[in-house]
Amino acid sequence: MAKSIFKILESKIHGEVLSSREFREFYSVDASSYKIIPKIIVIPKNEVDVINTVKIARKRKISITVRGAGTGLVGSALNSGIILDMKNFSSIKLGKNQVSVETGVIKGNLDTKLEASKKFFPPNPSIGSFCSVGGMLGNNSSGSRSLKYGSVIDNVKEITFVDGKGSKITLPKNKKIAKQIKNISNGIELEKFPNVSKNSSGYRLDTIKTKNDVHKTIIGSEGTLGIILSAKLEIKNKPKKQILFIVEYNSLIKAAKNCLEINKTNASAIEFVDKTTLDQIKCKFNKKSKCLLFVEYDEKIRSKEKKFKEINTGKIVKKLQTKEEIAKWWKYRDSSLHYSLKLIKKENRIPHIIEDVAVPLENFPKLFSILNKINKKYKTRSIVYGHAGNGNVHVRLISKRKKINIIKKIAVEYFDEILKLGGTITAEHGDGLARSEFIKKQYGSKNYQTFKKIKKYFDPDNILNPGKIITTKSTIIENLEKF
Ligand SMILES: Cc1cc2nc3c(=O)[nH]c(=O)nc-3n(C[C@H](O)[C@H](O)[C@H](O)COP(=O)(O)OP(=O)(O)OC[C@H]3O[C@@H](n4cnc5c(N)ncnc54)[C@H](O)[C@@H]3O)c2cc1C
Repeated sequence: MAKSIFKILESKIHGEVLSSREFREFYSVDASSYKIIPKIIVIPKNEVDVINTVKIARKRKISITVRGAGTGLVGSALNSGIILDMKNFSSIKLGKNQVSVETGVIKGNLDTKLEASKKFFPPNPSIGSFCSVGGMLGNNSSGSRSLKYGSVIDNVKEITFVDGKGSKITLPKNKKIAKQIKNISNGIELEKFPNVSKNSSGYRLDTIKTKNDVHKTIIGSEGTLGIILSAKLEIKNKPKKQILFIVEYNSLIKAAKNCLEINKTNASAIEFVDKTTLDQIKCKFNKKSKCLLFVEYDEKIRSKEKKFKEINTGKIVKKLQTKEEIAKWWKYRDSSLHYSLKLIKKENRIPHIIEDVAVPLENFPKLFSILNKINKKYKTRSIVYGHAGNGNVHVRLISKRKKINIIKKIAVEYFDEILKLGGTITAEHGDGLARSEFIKKQYGSKNYQTFKKIKKYFDPDNILNPGKIITTKSTIIENLEKF
């Protein structure tokens, strides 16, 4: 069967159609711990190729999963049917306060182009220049500066995509579809959505206030509603000045409590790292220090500095003001995942599953107590770092890798506690294979039914990245590589 689809695709597609073992292996993994070998890889040359691939996939009932740079942490871009690699969609057209980008554009190339005009696109995942715009849209990514500027979903004006029927749609421009989506989204129970400043779980129907917001349905939908061809992104002027404080604390809870106060000063970033990252930084910290906060301001520097110093309860170890020094210290923060992987033996690494929750900031200190409880109960240890200003903590768990059955138990228990605090199971990395089965619990049955209506509307035959977001299966420990 795969062979005949291969031949059909080959005869219709102007780009590449690949099915050799080497390519299928390459596209079977991403930055997660999962592995699924696809049947065919299509690298479309143009939008007609995308439309034709969807139409063929629909007719032959084979899944189609779009992939950006494959840096996702929860297997969102992995699936068994056709993988669509958008790397040829690489145009960037710069406007005054917006930029039109095709989704294969690599973030680093976009940054370079914007930098030349002293502009920037604010969401800045710690992976840096390597991810693609398509993947950022697909996951509703964010980064350190999302505290001030929001996630991807807060910085997009328009999306053009191909849905599961092979129709090309631009939202919010298409009034008829905008009206229908707005009508479906009117059915949500808003109070069941998490009360957090960042959320990448499920479909973000809570962000649709008017028909002009309906494109936000597609952002964070992990390729399950449409294949995004291009987007109009809002861009901002680069700040003229920045100041970055590195602050040390002798307790994580103390730092978490201080975040609440610091957050009132409108910082552009409040990030934290624990002792694992701290120990990797070439600097003389106090021996009793347990963690650091990175606190950055990018406007009204002097008055912000004064305010910050009034409420800071830690010890300022560095006050950085040059572009070079600030970039150097952000590199330390952005390398936290690298440091943690470097220091945990492979046999003791637990896959990313609970690595991305966020809670309302007033509950941030409680999050660490929950984590302590989990560690005690399951005899695990954890390395933590993340976007403290958003109450968003990345956790690397350490335990004997062989104890695979504890992964799901920990996830169930941890997510239950996070939901009680009004949090989300994922603030930026998405649901993917790790968390889709928890979406119903997070949003409740009524909202989940509304999500299903949205899915059916755009993808009636469930060919777009099936098994993600809308699923009846548990995939948290299925397809884990080398377990
Ligand atoms: C070291 C490290 C640090 C990270 N730090 C952060 C961080 O700070 N913040 C953060 O948000 N993430 C972070 N991530 C996760 C990841 O890098 C980001 O989510 C990134 O934006 C994913 O981009 P990608 O191009 O690699 O997407 P992929 O992994 O290829 O795909 C991600 C999802 O987007 C979908 N997708 C891709 N292209 C399209 C398209 N054209 N249309 C529709 N859907 C599409 C895919 O189907 C998939 O569901 C980190 C990852 C690593 C390895």
